[in-house]
Amino acid sequence: MMVTEVDVDAVVVGAGMGGIYAVHALNDAGFSVQGLEAGSGVGGVWFHNRYPGARVDVESLYYCFYFSPDLFREWTWTERYAAQPEIRAYLDWIAERTGVKERFRFNTKMIAAQWVPEQDHYRVTTSDGDTIICRYVVLMTGQLSAPRELPFKGLETFKGAWHQTAHWPEGDVDLSGRVGVIGTGSTGVQVVTAVAPRAEQLYVFQRTANYSVPAHNGPFDQDRFDEISSDVPKAYGRILTDRSGSLFPDPPGATTDFDPAERQAILEERWALGGQCMNRVFTDQGTEPTANAVVSEFVRSKIRGIVVDQEVAERLIPTEYPIGTRRLCVDTGYYQQFNRESVTLVDVKADPIDRIVEDGIVTQSGHHYQLDLLIFAIGFDAFTGALDAIDIRNEDGEQPSDRWSKGPRTFLGLMASGFPNLFIPTGPGSPSVLANMIQLNTFQADYVVQLIKHMKANGLTRVEPTEIGLDDWAAEVAAASGKLLRLNVQNYMVHVSDDGTRTFMPYAGGFGRFVELSNEAADAGYPGLSFR
Ligand code: NAP
Repeated sequence: MMVTEVDVDAVVVGAGMGGIYAVHALNDAGFSVQGLEAGSGVGGVWFHNRYPGARVDVESLYYCFYFSPDLFREWTWTERYAAQPEIRAYLDWIAERTGVKERFRFNTKMIAAQWVPEQDHYRVTTSDGDTIICRYVVLMTGQLSAPRELPFKGLETFKGAWHQTAHWPEGDVDLSGRVGVIGTGSTGVQVVTAVAPRAEQLYVFQRTANYSVPAHNGPFDQDRFDEISSDVPKAYGRILTDRSGSLFPDPPGATTDFDPAERQAILEERWALGGQCMNRVFTDQGTEPTANAVVSEFVRSKIRGIVVDQEVAERLIPTEYPIGTRRLCVDTGYYQQFNRESVTLVDVKADPIDRIVEDGIVTQSGHHYQLDLLIFAIGFDAFTGALDAIDIRNEDGEQPSDRWSKGPRTFLGLMASGFPNLFIPTGPGSPSVLANMIQLNTFQADYVVQLIKHMKANGLTRVEPTEIGLDDWAAEVAAASGKLLRLNVQNYMVHVSDDGTRTFMPYAGGFGRFVELSNEAADAGYPGLSFR
């Protein structure tokens, strides 16, 4: 078969941390690459989610790139957990220093990609009307980037200002008046904490109470930075073997290994460490209901201790699900905000939002909340949202998620069934949102580069997962999540098929194990993939 020339080897979509690194890595390996980014600058989720209080819950030390020891040493973080402006500035700086910015076309979306089987290439259509012929498409669009559509009727009648956290505007937003925040996930918790001290009145519209654990943010740990700086590749090696890629301390054992006094001491120690460490107090908390109850009850007791009004505390306490079975929120003083006279918790499970009117929100019981500003923090169309937003078609006219009615079907969370030469790093089947995203993105972008190098060296132009490869990986993903309590809790990581089958979409066997399995596949010549 004669394969025609391509315009570029690869098109990379998205200039977030994954896209920045993928463009850099491909370019560094000698491949030609065109980046496309819908926004006007780099940063991805950190470009768009510039809402008040936005902050990462992985330590800055590990939420950064390790590929260049010099660049690692050159950037100085100010806080243990960096806030959005600092992360955005960092990504901007990295993109500048690596020359990646020049390889991106900004304010430009990829609106379609058609696989052309006779030529082993994609025909990409961009929002500015251009066509790009490329051998590979690398979607670095993220799993939490397509915000949920706002389902509230009457929004168009609202006379005040309203914003969605994932599309927060540049510049100042007046937070001083009567503000309503809808949604109390990771985002809502951060917004509430930042807005409460500034608003005349804040109404928090909560549907499901969530567990939130203090970050115990503070100054950046210079000593640990110096230690890592002395051997950056060695530190990266440690990250690649870690369960989450974030180096949270490992649990000391199972709940059954300790008596009640010892458990309490361990729980207090973890609470003092803060943040996602609370997900790793005991080895059995994710699989054994009684073990989980020990941790859940501990956090509930902390909420009771922080919130003065016990009636409000009870409404803030999660009772619908065990801790860690939906994503744990991390805060910098969330529950304390409910001790302010100016903050009111509204239970919209008991009394749902009926409609938005010109001066606020009316609930089904007829209660009218007068508001000047509405902030929607209602989450994302996770995993498939960004993928479905692009018209990607294979030779049969299918889109990737057309084949996912029984749950996503991928090879290593990197390639989708039926789509040659398309890469979806951090996709379902990878550790995805369970891992430190910057490290997973880096690892999978490097993996793509190695794979493409292998193809080039062997004169190959087409790669796609085999049915056996897809089945084997699906079995691996299912085995890793089979015993998890979170498989049976409704949350955005679980796909429920029409027949009721539940699939936990991320690979739950740990980032380190995932890296190992991915490398084993590469070393064995990629069984599970077919080439031509
Ligand atoms: P989320 O976890 O999906 O939370 C959405 C919130 O909106 C929930 O409280 C949900 O209630 C509520 N909601 C949705 N539709 C609603 C409706 N129609 N009426 C009232 N309430 C409604 O979304 P998120 O907070 O944006 O977080 C998503 C993910 O982004 C996180 O899990 C995390 O991975 C990432 N994130 C991370 C950080 C961080 O690093 N610190 C910060 C922000 C986000 P129900 O629970 O009842 O559905």
